Amino acid sequence: MNFDPSTAFQAKSYEESEPNGQEPILGGQLREKAVWVDESKCIGCTYCSSVASNTFVMHPDQGRARAIRQDGDSNNLIQEAIDTCPVDCIQWVEFEDLDSLRQKLDQQDFRPLGLPPWT
Ligand code: SF4
Repeated sequence: MNFDPSTAFQAKSYEESEPNGQEPILGGQLREKAVWVDESKCIGCTYCSSVASNTFVMHPDQGRARAIRQDGDSNNLIQEAIDTCPVDCIQWVEFEDLDSLRQKLDQQDFRPLGLPPWT
């Protein structure tokens, strides 16, 4: 499956260009939280991507889960995926925090899963 993992940080649950009053930051009815995977802690079990497959995918190189969009599954289904994570590395976060979380993740040096450490 081909996909661009960077879309995880671009997908919004609403159009930014024209606010309509429904934005979470304005007290609207859309989801108030974004879902985030701390990939540095992910062990690649694939549970989350099996439960909420429109939200989580396994990165083909890293072997870790990533949230590729914020509006792919219901809150309940995403919460179910969160609950299945054996290392609790999926969290609800503020939409506004996604960019800084990505920057922190980019600064970390962790090895891809599924590859021997000497490769
Ligand atoms: S359930 Fe948790 S550990 Fe398993 S792939 Fe998803 S984020 Fe990673």
